[in-house]
Amino acid sequence: MRHIAIVGSGPAGYYTAEAALKQWGDSVRVDIFDTLPVPFGLIRSGVAPDHQSIKGVSRRYETTALTDNVRFVGNVMAGRDVSIAELQDLYDAVVLATGAPNDRKLGLPGEDLPNVFGSASFVGWYNGHPHFAGLDPALSHDTAVVIGNGNVALDVARILAKSQEEFAGSDIVAHALAALDASQVRRIAILGRRGPHQIAMTPKELGELAHLSRACPRVDPADLPDEAEDAALDPGQRKSVGHLRTFAAAGPCADRDVAIEFDFFASPRAILGNGRVEEVEVERTRLEAGPSGVRAVGTGETYRIPAGLVIACIGYQTSQIPGVPFDEKGGRFANEDGRIHPGLYCVGWARRGPTGTIGTNRPDGFAIVEKIAEDIGEGSGKAGRPGFDALAESRGIHVIKFTDWQKIDEAEIANARKGAPREKFVAMERMIEAAGKN
Ligand code: NAP
Repeated sequence: MRHIAIVGSGPAGYYTAEAALKQWGDSVRVDIFDTLPVPFGLIRSGVAPDHQSIKGVSRRYETTALTDNVRFVGNVMAGRDVSIAELQDLYDAVVLATGAPNDRKLGLPGEDLPNVFGSASFVGWYNGHPHFAGLDPALSHDTAVVIGNGNVALDVARILAKSQEEFAGSDIVAHALAALDASQVRRIAILGRRGPHQIAMTPKELGELAHLSRACPRVDPADLPDEAEDAALDPGQRKSVGHLRTFAAAGPCADRDVAIEFDFFASPRAILGNGRVEEVEVERTRLEAGPSGVRAVGTGETYRIPAGLVIACIGYQTSQIPGVPFDEKGGRFANEDGRIHPGLYCVGWARRGPTGTIGTNRPDGFAIVEKIAEDIGEGSGKAGRPGFDALAESRGIHVIKFTDWQKIDEAEIANARKGAPREKFVAMERMIEAAGKN
């Protein structure tokens, strides 16, 4: 028998469990740990609330979760409630699938001013993550600045721009819905330090901006390269740039209340304000070919954007865990193809950094199971589940099982406002209470 502990119940964790079941069937037992009493990580707390079809992938994870050989061990924080060394004593393999929940820092003066947030906290706020539910961003100024040209910047801009009606059918949490209803934000400036050809936005997500009821995207035609140059782009990127061209051609769309302005060649230099953010200082850039691709170089020309809210969507990093080697530059665990050392592994964003779609984690999960198979053979008689249960009992840890989560799930569904799939609990205590475990 092989005993595997997976730390993190997001896509990378569940795909790894699925791969382990496929590899070993009845001769493996997998325990999936999560700090929260609820599973699915990024699917619940990262994917935008108005992208319900993407969230549907959790049904696949549920199938894995409900097999006898896989167990959800919620409300347990590895590295705090149980150390990684203890898990390694109990399980043949420990796989860190902890994602990348922390914001990368801008490294700019003023970034700690009130109402300047990283996307992890802002997204966590509107998605009801217990750690960020109390963020309480002020939406009282007419301009918000969103930094970055990736899909998260698009998510954030779209959520700020949508009308209440457009959230029908989403699982945006009540506190965010109410705050957005009272929002004064009418201009959302998306800053890209490079140009339209360097965006990291995918076509479907970018195209959505053209269909918002009260907002419209604006692109300055002068920022777009000659159309003939699009031929050198890969098909997806060409399609994305095509959307930008359509936005530019549509002009300023005066009939809409909210403008989503793409400000390219714009690198933030400082966040200014007295007691809270009031302006963002930006430097114009130009592109320069470098050894690792096209990079932005400052031109010395600066300007200021008055703004009351700044959200930096510039990427994430993995949380460090005591005793686990960390690659500071990459913001992930130090590893070689997922192996930290025999017996300890990482997958998903914790392995490769915050890139790729949810589906990218599937091959990752299967690849790591191959490595584990090479290292652990048939297992070495470790205690596994019963060993962890004894430890949990001795420490008074209140484990939330998958069947407990199903009670939380039912309660959230029952609490949904009309047309919404659920109303999430945003406090750990409420989740635990709904599971009948308090
Ligand atoms: P991302 O795709 O890596 O984009 C980060 C953006 O931040 C880039 O435009 C980058 O510009 C910019 N940036 C980085 N450092 C900066 C700085 N110091 N100043 C100004 N700009 C800076 O990251 P993400 O948007 O967080 O997305 C993470 C992953 O999740 C991606 O793979 C994304 O596709 C995926 N995702 C997918 C969906 C979806 O499919 N619906 C939704 C959300 C996220 P440079 O290019 O110049 O470095």
